[in-house]
Amino acid sequence: MLCVLPGGLVDEAGTVHDEVELRGLSGREEELLAGDGGAETCAAALVTALLSRCVRRIGGIRQVDADVTRRLLVADRQFVLLKVREATFGERVQGSVPCPWPDCGRRVAVSFSTSDVPVRAARDKGPVHTGVLSADAMPGAGDADRTVAFRLPTGADQEALSGLLEENEAAALTGLLARCLLRVGPDASVDEERVARLSPLARLEIERRMEEAAPRVDLLMEAECAHCGRAFSAPFDPQGFFFGELRATADLLRREVHYLAYHYHWSEREIMEMPRARRGRYIAVLADEIERSNECV
Ligand SMILES: [Zn+2]
Repeated sequence: MLCVLPGGLVDEAGTVHDEVELRGLSGREEELLAGDGGAETCAAALVTALLSRCVRRIGGIRQVDADVTRRLLVADRQFVLLKVREATFGERVQGSVPCPWPDCGRRVAVSFSTSDVPVRAARDKGPVHTGVLSADAMPGAGDADRTVAFRLPTGADQEALSGLLEENEAAALTGLLARCLLRVGPDASVDEERVARLSPLARLEIERRMEEAAPRVDLLMEAECAHCGRAFSAPFDPQGFFFGELRATADLLRREVHYLAYHYHWSEREIMEMPRARRGRYIAVLADEIERSNECV
């Protein structure tokens, strides 16, 4: 499958690599990601592992390992994850979310196609973005002192901060700004202590500029509650959903392997290397055969 990243990887020469060639998961990878080991690894590290297995090429980069997939922007990683999910399970996503109205709270079925998820490409590919903060954000400072330079958050940032994010969200956000801010005025070494000295308004303005510069995958689903009739929007978490789906179908995977091994006498290793769609085609052929031989009896 081919797709184009909403952001892209910019190399040292300034070339943007954004055409992605990827494939769906094999049975072995489904098992690996659904396994118990997955629950202990942070979600960001799991996404890195998944993408480095399934992405074959990004633009001219043909050696896509964990380091390369960590360098991808957060939205690019979400986008590729949706595409890997599409290549593995198909476009249609079916699940349920709780109705957010407190007097209802019942589960509502939602269904959408991953190809309909709105994606906004980044106009400026960076990798360095600059902006001038308002005079209110840095009282008494001149234009040059209020100029900031930053890069956008990547998978590496998510992995580095995932532990802290669970304990202390505010500290994680400060850590993220310290990692992504490359310059504040003349100050080219921005650490957490420098970030802590920024006014709340300055931080807010920097966060807004980062949001504006970043590509975006719009993961808000529109739904209507079948019980109370009210409309609402709910966030869709592609990582949680995809990994949940893999865990939920782990039993089915084992049954499919057993079924195919029983009828075709293939080894477990051979069957586990097949993607889900190919297993499904063989199972459909077998089901036809069995039905036909039953009719002959
Ligand atoms: Zn409701």
